[in-house]
Amino acid sequence: MTTVVWYKRDLRTRDHAPLVAAATLGEPVIPLYVIEDEYWHQPDTSGRQWDFIQDSLNDLQQQLRKAGSQLLVMRGSVVSALKQLRECHAIGRVFCHQETGGLWTFERDKSVIDWCSEAGVEFREWHQFGVVRRLKDRDVWDKAWSKLMRQPVLDAPAAIPAIDPSHLPRPDATAPAFARPDRCPDRQAGGSLRGEKLLASFLDRRCVGYQYNISSPLTAVRACSRLSPHLAYGTVSLREVYQSAKIAGEHRNSLPRKKKSLTSFRSRLHWHCHFIQKLEDEPELEFRAMHRELEGMKTGPNDSERLQRWQEGLTGWPLVDACMRALQHTGWINFRMRAMLMAVASYQFWLHWRDPALHLARLFTDFEPGIHYSQTQMQSGLTGINALRIYNPVLQSQKLDPEGEFIRRWIPELAGVPTEMIHTPWLMTPTQKARFGGNTYTAPVCDHEQAARAARKAVGDFRKQYVSREETGRVLDRHGSRKGPHQTRPKATSSQRPDNQLSLFD
Ligand SMILES: Cc1cc2nc3c(=O)[nH]c(=O)nc-3n(C[C@H](O)[C@H](O)[C@H](O)COP(=O)(O)OP(=O)(O)OC[C@H]3O[C@@H](n4cnc5c(N)ncnc54)[C@H](O)[C@@H]3O)c2cc1C
Repeated sequence: MTTVVWYKRDLRTRDHAPLVAAATLGEPVIPLYVIEDEYWHQPDTSGRQWDFIQDSLNDLQQQLRKAGSQLLVMRGSVVSALKQLRECHAIGRVFCHQETGGLWTFERDKSVIDWCSEAGVEFREWHQFGVVRRLKDRDVWDKAWSKLMRQPVLDAPAAIPAIDPSHLPRPDATAPAFARPDRCPDRQAGGSLRGEKLLASFLDRRCVGYQYNISSPLTAVRACSRLSPHLAYGTVSLREVYQSAKIAGEHRNSLPRKKKSLTSFRSRLHWHCHFIQKLEDEPELEFRAMHRELEGMKTGPNDSERLQRWQEGLTGWPLVDACMRALQHTGWINFRMRAMLMAVASYQFWLHWRDPALHLARLFTDFEPGIHYSQTQMQSGLTGINALRIYNPVLQSQKLDPEGEFIRRWIPELAGVPTEMIHTPWLMTPTQKARFGGNTYTAPVCDHEQAARAARKAVGDFRKQYVSREETGRVLDRHGSRKGPHQTRPKATSSQRPDNQLSLFD
């Protein structure tokens, strides 16, 4: 009987439980990846994500060959690929990792499970992250996560029983067709080998000072691990990253600074699954506000001119535009700047969260639906359980890019502008503009402070009128973190509404 190991967002051979389980059965194994054209037409997918996957498929092929096996790449739907395989082989099992994706992959998984059940094929899934399916109680989640992280990391199988490739359907690995062209000249390259190298350089050297250097877009490029696309497409295993960071951080020769950095890094790996768990528990988050009563805060289509200016890095606020352009060019930006980009769209520009969220998803090589939809909602004030964070683009710029180095790198229109004017070029006189060359850079569409104040008031007024304690309590109960300041289960009471802490975040 043949086992199909169905590869999705888990493009590796190390610590791959379905592959190990299939290989140890001693019967033929077909490692399969299906290029699903319909998936690549979803509005949160893009060419850069596919390109990363393609690198990773090439790398995976090398790894599987070392074990005497071969990756079969087909295209179309997974069910049609399995049907084709079944015509030439006695497919008895489909093994894979669990995936927490958007509605489309959820429906796709259901169709595969249904087909297996009708065809009498065993379907088995393993955990890839610390995400729990059909979680009944958030209070027990942390424990489940820790248990998974402690499980031993599995070696890649040394030998995988193979099938003569001439007995397999014709492979088809041509790239999907994309509606929008996607140029990303400095995209991170994919593949496990690169992921493992990044992890090693981070743990050996780059992690020192992690928590001090991850906020500025200048220093974050090196100070952050940059493992996100590798975790998103599973070219490295989260458990292996976690355990390696623990060993490196707890080594007796590790400097205290390094220990601190790696503790902070490990907490991010916990957040990774904490956020994905939200989408797992409530798949509607892809489309609808986490706090259902906040859904009506913005109605009607978005202001298309504002949306376009934000998307193209033409808001007139230099740090915001530099971040958007850097993201366009590289496929990555650090957490703080992702939060600022989203917050500016949602507050100062007062856009409905969905269009900006989809735009950012396409620009992120590391697009991970569970983190992405939860974070974009959180940065738009739609969870109802987190403090509002409205970023002041000028203060952020002065604090995180004081010399304007990052701005000059990404906004050539401002290359000659002196540091004292680089954060507020709209205040330059026509003579200064003519002299320093800021003439071609766009003026802001609105005053950011006034817009922030108006947004804060609009959110506050809406909450007072429409937000109930019951719904806030439901969100806390279902999605609230049980770590950090809320060590105990947070409860909404009549005198305390946890979401009404409105602050202008520096
Ligand atoms: C609006 C918005 C959208 C985001 N969308 C994504 C996304 O699609 N994919 C994605 O991987 N991350 C997303 N993030 C979270 C975070 O910005 C990235 O994980 C991080 O910048 C990736 O760089 P790194 O791997 O070098 O991070 P590091 O700081 O080295 O962190 C290591 C890993 O921890 C996890 N992590 C770090 N920060 C967070 C966080 N705040 N929440 C959840 N997990 C975290 C990631 O898996 C990351 O790869 C988003 C954040 C915001 C504010």
